[in-house]
Amino acid sequence: MNFDWTDMAGALHKAAMPFAALLASSLLTLTPSNAGSVSRIDANDSQITVSFDGLVEGASTFSLIGPDRIAVDIKGGKAGRGGHATGMIKSVRQGQYDPNTARIVFDLDRPAVITDGSFSADGKSLKLSLQSVGGHVLKKGRRSFLPPAQFRAEPPKKSYSVKVPLGKPQDKVALPKISGPKDKSRPLVVIDAGHGGHDPGSVSPHGGKYEKNVVLAIAKAVRDQLIASGRIRVAMTRETDKYLVLEERYGIARRLDADLFISIHADAAGNQSASGATVYTLSEVASDREAAKLAARENRSNIINGVNLGGSNQDVSSILIDLTQRETMNVSADFAKLLIREGQRMIKFRANPHRFASLVVLKAPDTPSVLFETGYLTNKEDVELLSSRSGQSKVAIGIANAIEAHFARKLAQR
Ligand code: ZN
Repeated sequence: MNFDWTDMAGALHKAAMPFAALLASSLLTLTPSNAGSVSRIDANDSQITVSFDGLVEGASTFSLIGPDRIAVDIKGGKAGRGGHATGMIKSVRQGQYDPNTARIVFDLDRPAVITDGSFSADGKSLKLSLQSVGGHVLKKGRRSFLPPAQFRAEPPKKSYSVKVPLGKPQDKVALPKISGPKDKSRPLVVIDAGHGGHDPGSVSPHGGKYEKNVVLAIAKAVRDQLIASGRIRVAMTRETDKYLVLEERYGIARRLDADLFISIHADAAGNQSASGATVYTLSEVASDREAAKLAARENRSNIINGVNLGGSNQDVSSILIDLTQRETMNVSADFAKLLIREGQRMIKFRANPHRFASLVVLKAPDTPSVLFETGYLTNKEDVELLSSRSGQSKVAIGIANAIEAHFARKLAQR
């Protein structure tokens, strides 16, 4: 079995969910029948204990930050359900990462690392020592643990091996460099080019233009535009064709203490005459059916093989918003209006261009955030504009002008 994700790209935005679900179920049937299942998980502030109902090959752990998580991969293991956790561990999730590996994810309320660990003498449980770490100093890479040799499962025979050439989540997302003035009192904007890596986003019907490439070019043009003006500091969530889960994207903005987060996208629609730009801000309830559909599409970026790699284990089509987020949401809405006002000299907008949707990537509680759909890759004029240098720079000037105006206004309010 050799899935070429890019061949599926045309169908991806419309059919990602059924395809992903199909892929996951076909893999599950190939799980070695002798694999030990995760039968119990107990965790507190200092220790995690994972028990199995059979033998496994080994385990490895790694930490992720923004949102803070610890992942435990069980080689030769089958995922069970849930787990019991207290203290800094907010929740426990399990899923079959690949046919031979169960992944357990611990969602934390602060960064932590695994400092030590060992299997029991009978190989049927794994104890891990957990320690919270101040700041963002995390040890790189994985730590591996093996059961005693006589109680170690054999790796599956070749016939079980299935290659799934999909992107893997980063063990740790490094913070990007900040460009622009060195003065830290200058406002900082984080520009997020949507999608990337295995996730192409929307695809144009004929020209084979991928959203991930188009929006990266626009994001870079916005950065260059802002740097040229010399007033605003800029960081990008990605500058290459790499994949980040949605929480890692706004996590970067939060960790950098950014003043504004803008996620740049390009949409697709069944109706090829649909065209123009739309600005989305966060809301629990979508402003219209189309906005709800868009949120479902964009939030799906977190799902690979039917497993949600993001920090949210609830249905990604609806998210709960904290009351503390209201102030941030007001600033986001103000910026959305400004983006339309300042941008319309350069960018063609749709009717009612400010819409609301429950978009995971906008969920930073303390960073004003907007998602900007720059146009439709399914529309002939839009795709020509968005994939040409001159069009990209027009859109970038519109966005950069709005960002400058936003911070100028903030400064004047002080
Ligand atoms: Zn998108």
